[in-house]
Amino acid sequence: MIPAVLPTYNRAPLAFVKGEGSWLTTEDGARYLDLGAGIAVNVLGHANPDLVETLTTQAQQLWHVSNLYRIPEQERLAAQLVEATFADTVFFTNSGTEAAELAIKMVRKYWTEQGDPDRIEILTFEGAFHGRSTGAIAAAGSEKMTKGFGPLMPGFRSLPFGDHDALRAALTDRTAAVLIEPIQGEGGIRVLPDACLKGLRDLCDETGALLVFDEVQCGMGRSGRLFAHEWSGVTPDIMMVAKGIGGGFPLGAVLATERAAVGMVAGTHGSTYGGNPLGCAIGARVMELVNDDAFLAEVNRKAALFSQKLEGLVAAHPTVFEAVRGTGLMLGLKCRAPNTDVVKASYAENLLTVPAADNVLRLLPALNIPDADIAEAVARLDRAASRIEADAA
Ligand SMILES: *Cc1c(COP(=O)(O)O)cnc(C)c1O
Repeated sequence: MIPAVLPTYNRAPLAFVKGEGSWLTTEDGARYLDLGAGIAVNVLGHANPDLVETLTTQAQQLWHVSNLYRIPEQERLAAQLVEATFADTVFFTNSGTEAAELAIKMVRKYWTEQGDPDRIEILTFEGAFHGRSTGAIAAAGSEKMTKGFGPLMPGFRSLPFGDHDALRAALTDRTAAVLIEPIQGEGGIRVLPDACLKGLRDLCDETGALLVFDEVQCGMGRSGRLFAHEWSGVTPDIMMVAKGIGGGFPLGAVLATERAAVGMVAGTHGSTYGGNPLGCAIGARVMELVNDDAFLAEVNRKAALFSQKLEGLVAAHPTVFEAVRGTGLMLGLKCRAPNTDVVKASYAENLLTVPAADNVLRLLPALNIPDADIAEAVARLDRAASRIEADAA
């Protein structure tokens, strides 16, 4: 018999009832150290007192009114994002997938406005992940996500990752846009080198194609900058954000330049919940706390500490791990043992990690994880690796 919850997930047999900082407690009172942070969502840890205060204060005032009216909290968060980034304008969603949908629509509308409505091809990259809507699965194009859901939305072409020649050949003056994650998350913490982002920007400028960054996972301080593309000095025309932006409250956004957003006039797009007062009040507080030089300097210091310890771990367990990758606190351990075995062995050490493609173990802690918890996490990974070595012996 089908369970009451549609069985689309392979869930671990763990149920958490309370969280505090980087720790989660199960129904039975067992404590787990959390290096997943709800898949890069809880950037300030669980039950962050600042965010609890913001949420409860706003909850007593106003939750939801719809976009039939002005929403001051939404205007405030939009102003913060515009002030801090390349963008001139922001649309709020409740998820990354919805942000992807709008990004795709915005590209199509842009070319319609230019009098070239047939210019629809969006180039994407192998290993990409942009969400689970019909548009987002067509964009990513992987068989795993698209099988059985055809016919797929037309207008996407997937290129090999990091292959400049293939990109050069594909990117023409008929290309509508290029859609890319500056650091692939689901694809296995694959960092696009700064030179590639620069080259991509140049090719887009030459051909007129719009450059769209998906920073749903790598954004909001995770890379050690507010947004990962800042490391390269290159800016996009459109950017998708979600996950960390609400610190655990469902919130997403599309940021765009005035030029890219030219077609998005009244009536062209909307959302019932998107940009509600509750979500935006929390998002504004997350922005205040994360978009802060001292906070981001700490992310980078913690990231250096963590990756140095992880290098030691890889050296100590060469049959389990192969290499450390990533930027900031978006870290990955490329594994030699199956990454799912390492996830399971980590559960046995009360440690939560997240698998990704390319046999990578993702480590996406809260951005304010205490140094002591980083040390504890590495000690637990060390014991997890020893378990796998003992099983193999
Ligand atoms: C998670 C993710 C999405 C989809 O976000 P949802 O909130 O799950 O809809 C899109 N792009 C990237 C890069 C992601 O990591």
